[in-house]
Amino acid sequence: ELRTWQAGLRDQFPIIVANPGTAYLDSAATSQKPQAVLDAVMGYLTTGNANAGRGTYPWANRTTALVQEAGLRVRRFLGDPEPDRSGVHFVSGTTEGLRLIARDWLVRHLRDGDEMIVPAADHTANALPWREAAGQLAREGVTVRIREMPYDAARDYDHRALPALVTGRTRFIAVTHVHHVYGGDMNIQRIRAAAGPDVVICLDAAQGVGHLPLSVADLDVDFVVFSGHKAMALPGTGAIWAGNRRGARFVPGGWAGTPNTSGIVSLAAALDWLEQAGVERIARWTVALGARLTDGLHRLPAYEVLGCQRSLEAGSPVQQRHGIVTFRHHRIGSNDLGFILAAEGFLVRADGHCQAEGGEKTASVRVSVHAYNTVEEIDRLLELLRRLDTEG
Ligand code: PMP
Repeated sequence: ELRTWQAGLRDQFPIIVANPGTAYLDSAATSQKPQAVLDAVMGYLTTGNANAGRGTYPWANRTTALVQEAGLRVRRFLGDPEPDRSGVHFVSGTTEGLRLIARDWLVRHLRDGDEMIVPAADHTANALPWREAAGQLAREGVTVRIREMPYDAARDYDHRALPALVTGRTRFIAVTHVHHVYGGDMNIQRIRAAAGPDVVICLDAAQGVGHLPLSVADLDVDFVVFSGHKAMALPGTGAIWAGNRRGARFVPGGWAGTPNTSGIVSLAAALDWLEQAGVERIARWTVALGARLTDGLHRLPAYEVLGCQRSLEAGSPVQQRHGIVTFRHHRIGSNDLGFILAAEGFLVRADGHCQAEGGEKTASVRVSVHAYNTVEEIDRLLELLRRLDTEG
């Protein structure tokens, strides 16, 4: 049943259909775009392109309405229970969104002696801005203590160690929904449980949105930032959602310049597309592909899957990877492996993956899938990796 559903989805991606010999396995870097998203952008640009927020004529009014509607789409997609209260601000991606929260919100909300808990082995976009904010405050004479989020052996957050780090001065915690190297769901509900009800939690959902259901009500988080281009929309798109509770409010300066209107149109269309495709089903599909790859790699002695030990019971929650599997070959260097795979039509990411300094020290190969990838692609990849198992 999932296979028929998936075949129908795959056919909607022109670039995938046009390249049958190519397996695009780098969706964690950016996703491919379905026809519906391309049509929405083309439709907008050919029937009513104008600037937003300053209209006295129909195209401009319609553009303003499209941007506002897109904000509502983001709220609905995130399961926002209070769409009248929350705010959505469009950005170019997660990097810009997190940086704006650090620069425009965090530095105004922290006081001398406050503390924050931030990741040290997540994407640099969710590690550096908080440290920069603390540095800026220090120059102004405000001392903010940074505690590093602890990790366990499976590279999940260490929920047992976390409560000891939360004090009466903890004001802010930055976390990641799905890790961009290990692919694990970082169990944000447990972060809220450890943090207590008053701490502002900011979620980097770059690898979560479109990959697994995300409900701000269930997770009880205050900021969510994501990249539209990783979720079927155009490059240069993304959003900050702010719940406007616990002081978590993001106020951009009115219409701050010309927004990326065609990108925002693409983002609204992409969220519609994902809703229709069914994020729950996409999660089941990509988790299954990841498990197939992980299990296959575990049978090949030359490979090590990062954050996913062979000794852990297969299929256990910590073993679940949301469409991201990262590995190394014991003898072949990861960059070389990347070139070998590319020559055979497998487009993967090989390198250091922009992980902050607490992360992996050597390069690795990351395979990341989305709704358009197939079981056959994973099996063909495993076949090639099996041939390389004894070489190098
Ligand atoms: N956070 C995570 C977890 C990511 O995977 C990425 C993208 N590689 C980013 C942040 C940055 O996203 P963008 O490049 O769209 O700004």
